[in-house]
Amino acid sequence: MSIIPFDDRDGFIWLDGTIVPWREAKTHVLTHGLHYGSCVFEGERCYGGAIFKNREHTERLHRSAELLGFTIPYSYEVLEAAKAEVLKLNKISDGYLRPVAWRGSEMMAISAQQTKIHVAIASWAWPSMYKPEIKQKGIRLAMADYKRPSPETAPTASKAAGLYMICTISKHAAEKAGFDDALMLDYRGYLAEATGANLFLVMDGEIHTPKADCFLDGITRRTVIALAKEAGITVHERHIKPEELVRAQEVFLTGTAAEITPVGEIQGQKFTPGAVTHQLMDAYTAATRAGAKAAA
Ligand code: PMP
Repeated sequence: MSIIPFDDRDGFIWLDGTIVPWREAKTHVLTHGLHYGSCVFEGERCYGGAIFKNREHTERLHRSAELLGFTIPYSYEVLEAAKAEVLKLNKISDGYLRPVAWRGSEMMAISAQQTKIHVAIASWAWPSMYKPEIKQKGIRLAMADYKRPSPETAPTASKAAGLYMICTISKHAAEKAGFDDALMLDYRGYLAEATGANLFLVMDGEIHTPKADCFLDGITRRTVIALAKEAGITVHERHIKPEELVRAQEVFLTGTAAEITPVGEIQGQKFTPGAVTHQLMDAYTAATRAGAKAAA
């Protein structure tokens, strides 16, 4: 498979208030965000030209930065206009957006109060995280060695780059062992989430999902909970022990990039994507396309 590097593509990126050619959207090696993890980002999707949950993502970017002690120097309106411009210039109507904000190079130490806050927004086509045939059977999850940290240990509600260190390590270990992704427990040993998506279990027609008290309460997670409730499905948000997986008939993940991805196996334990998963996949597809229809 030939890889097209992300720094060597055609197109345009919004950087600190202006549009720059894709390959010129650069930062210096002595950047606080790179050395100390003072960086937050978003992952968004647009469907038929409309960004799904646009405002929620804009708000979360601001909130993520505040949780790391810095303020995004652009209003919601400016960021949303920038996102629209990036989509237009790159001619993307169905794709992915990546806003990112980080501390710059003015100071290079733990204390970095005077650093400039940079913001960039890129967008590219990303049809589906997994191939349709893999998605149909359900992906295979390994159990991760790392656990989601306690909110007393890290700013767990922030979509902070630094929190992904253990996700990449865990995902790589899972892939090396032949799995698609890794399932992480939390610091107490409860089921938490996958490396970039939230977890849902279906037990006897009802939905159970881990309480999001130490990991990202995903925008897709909240959307799927609302869709399930609208469909009359009972939803339990609670602490779930790994031993309870044997009681689940269906398992799926949710995330902006992953959308709803069925899970076929968790470390040897098998699940079959079933009626509830498919019903919610259809409802999610309809919800994501509703904005596109309205705009058309
Ligand atoms: N958890 C993690 C660690 C993630 O990276 C993501 C993707 N942003 C999610 C959960 C799901 O969040 P959302 O539905 O807002 O994309």
